[in-house]
Amino acid sequence: MTVPIAKLSFWGVRGSTPTVDPATSRYGGNTPCLELIAPDGTQFILDCGTGLRMLGSRWAAPNGGKTPETHILVTHYHWDHIQGIPFFSPLYVESNEFHFYSFRSKFLGRDSLKQVFEAQMALPYFPVDMSAMSAKRKFKEVDGGDSFNVGENKITARWLNHPQGCLGFRIETPAGTVAYATDNEPGDAKLDESLRELAAGADIFINDAQFTPEQLETTRKGWGHSSWLEGTKVARQMGAKTLVLFHHDPDSTDRMLDSILRQAREEFDSVFAASEGMVITLGAPGDRVQAHMPGARTALRREAQFHAKVCGVTEGGKDFEEETMVRDISLQGALISLKHLPRLQSELQVTMEAPGTDGVQAMNLRGYVVRIDAAPEKGHVAVGVVFTD
Ligand SMILES: [Zn+2]
Ligand SMILES: [Zn+2]
Repeated sequence: MTVPIAKLSFWGVRGSTPTVDPATSRYGGNTPCLELIAPDGTQFILDCGTGLRMLGSRWAAPNGGKTPETHILVTHYHWDHIQGIPFFSPLYVESNEFHFYSFRSKFLGRDSLKQVFEAQMALPYFPVDMSAMSAKRKFKEVDGGDSFNVGENKITARWLNHPQGCLGFRIETPAGTVAYATDNEPGDAKLDESLRELAAGADIFINDAQFTPEQLETTRKGWGHSSWLEGTKVARQMGAKTLVLFHHDPDSTDRMLDSILRQAREEFDSVFAASEGMVITLGAPGDRVQAHMPGARTALRREAQFHAKVCGVTEGGKDFEEETMVRDISLQGALISLKHLPRLQSELQVTMEAPGTDGVQAMNLRGYVVRIDAAPEKGHVAVGVVFTD
């Protein structure tokens, strides 16, 4: 019997508007787009922000092309959740088939999402018209409270507290449950309950974490977003296993997100900050949830041999200290072989011995774990680190 495994990929994690500021490049600047491949091969896409363009450029037909069907759940019609649609190349291929799910907006009426497509591509806003989009497109209206099945997977939609409405989705697959709750603000008793229902017992609970708790109480109150602290409260209360902080503010730099994540990890054990390129595997043997960052963006590397001492925190949350050699180093980071398995997105203190004018000198660097791969040495992991100062 094979173990059912689901794969959740993050293609866009930024809220409100894309950022191309180098200070935000580590977590990424594309607006919301997630992809979930269920154990039965069904491909789900959650939201169509600018991350959708990258998903399209790496397109592989779902299920090896045998049943090339993709189910796209759109939470609401704010720009940051739809602006990738015209740039999604698989929509221009006749043999592809897409099933879109979203709600009837009181501002648009029937076929709201279809109208959004047409409006987005109307002249003079876009150079090609709708007729170029040759893929089959089917639209299904869903309402808060609806449940339906796609293959072996059950999808439940719930209303969330957000201006002009937003749906949260809970997808139950045989490998585990993903709750996707972007764009929501706490404070409406009924809708807070909806959020808790989505999150209850979920393996992955993705929640809006745009603002700091201080902003949420003061200057950003009523803007329709939440904070890392609210996410940890709901996750703890509802027994969600892993919390993913999502919809990062465009003004939040990587450094600020590092600090937000650190605070959230003090409140709840298993937290990740959504990061472009992050992949979470559900249902893998031995470990319910695994997060990794395959093929992280790295610059040209130079072979090196530096003796180093590395201090960090393991996947299980324990401090460790280990002596090793740094073999591969670039201006931005290094690849370090370790016996301990550090936690993804945690800090590492790397002390390297480097030859200086007065003999060997210790060089202290603070690194950040962006990638974990198998190492050539038995019992080791290859840890990709980006230096933060
Ligand atoms: Zn948004
Ligand atoms: Zn919104």
